[in-house]
Amino acid sequence: MAAPTREQVRDFVQACCLPRESRAHVHDPLALDATLAELRPLARERGLYLPTLPQRFGGLGLGWVERAPLLEEAGRSYLGPAAMNCAAPDQPNMISLLQQGRPDQHQRYLQPLADGRLRSCFAMTEPAPGAGSDPSMLMTQARRVANGWELEGRKWFITGAVGAAFAIVLAQTEEGPTQFIVDMDTPGMGLVRSIRSSDPFAVGGHGELRLQACRVPDDAVLGEPGLGLQYAQQRLEPARLSHCMRLAGRARRALELAQDHVLRRHSFGSPLADLQQIQAMVADAHIDLYASRLMVADCAARMDAGQPVKTESAMAKVFVSEALNRVADRAAQMAGAHGMDEEAPIALIQRELRPFRIYDGASELHRATLGRRFLKRRQAPDPRGDR
Ligand SMILES: Cc1cc2nc3c(=O)[nH]c(=O)nc-3n(C[C@H](O)[C@H](O)[C@H](O)COP(=O)(O)OP(=O)(O)OC[C@H]3O[C@@H](n4cnc5c(N)ncnc54)[C@H](O)[C@@H]3O)c2cc1C
Repeated sequence: MAAPTREQVRDFVQACCLPRESRAHVHDPLALDATLAELRPLARERGLYLPTLPQRFGGLGLGWVERAPLLEEAGRSYLGPAAMNCAAPDQPNMISLLQQGRPDQHQRYLQPLADGRLRSCFAMTEPAPGAGSDPSMLMTQARRVANGWELEGRKWFITGAVGAAFAIVLAQTEEGPTQFIVDMDTPGMGLVRSIRSSDPFAVGGHGELRLQACRVPDDAVLGEPGLGLQYAQQRLEPARLSHCMRLAGRARRALELAQDHVLRRHSFGSPLADLQQIQAMVADAHIDLYASRLMVADCAARMDAGQPVKTESAMAKVFVSEALNRVADRAAQMAGAHGMDEEAPIALIQRELRPFRIYDGASELHRATLGRRFLKRRQAPDPRGDR
């Protein structure tokens, strides 16, 4: 099956997604779900559905290099990635289920996610003093009971929780951190509240979950008990790279809108676009986007070649999340007061991009880890390493 082209995704976004964007979706995940239900059949008809899963699950089976431009094009609209079923958190959850799930879990959870019949979420972060940047502070406990496990704890800022059918929950066990698949209708599992994070278009919003005497069967464990943090790490590398791809599309859209504005808007007798300081902002924004794409493309090529990208994906995440925020900030500046209208697209995109500097590892955390790693390598160089 030939991979779809960038142009095909661009046409889909232009013809189907952008016209359906609506203020009614702001912080209303169920309204967003209704629009996505209209869009997914259209994405299927155009051969764009599920680019990131193997063909045996109905996906397009694309490699990382192939998917990068498609996810960027899809990301020009907040509706694009979810319409093509390659949005977070379902996309990384599908990868976790694919890699760590048993055949029965593939049938019960992965295939319905791939078909778009269910939504899911991934629950690791906890309110203080629980796990955040430091996952070893995990407080949610799972203890063995007859025929299964009993979970107890709280999770918050869980993207996709509103309307999800199940959560992949990270909990502490005697063996160490362990992943559990918990159906949202399990007694003792509950959505306490929906959190209005600054990004208003997350599929399934963000939620706080409480697990109270929540009993799950033995077969709810995803992967091996005790390997939860290792699995979370495996999940995060591709997840953050996919975010870089999709969100580059969001930043590009803000820049396109700002460029249109400065070409139309006049000040002191000339279009804003004729002013050198405006031209410099446009140039700097394109430089940031270009550098972001190159870093993502390098990581993607390494991943397709089966090489580790622990260091590269962390560097790309720091650079791209900050570069895209700079692009959106310049777009808002060029748009003047219009860029400050919090219901207009540029300001909404800026709000969407801001938390990317925090989730998937805050910039400071990555810098601390990268700095230590590079200095350690300097002390004890790895002859195979290139830095
Ligand atoms: C929009 C959004 C969506 C999210 N979705 C999910 C989800 O679906 N599932 C999930 O489990 N979690 C999710 N999260 C949570 C996210 O993963 C955490 O916010 C992140 O891991 C940071 O944890 P924390 O908020 O507890 O911050 P803390 O750990 O309290 O850190 C606060 C700040 O301290 C600094 N800091 C922390 N550690 C270091 C260090 N070692 N060196 C230097 N500075 C440091 C950083 O600036 C950091 O931002 C989401 C968060 C947001 C905002």
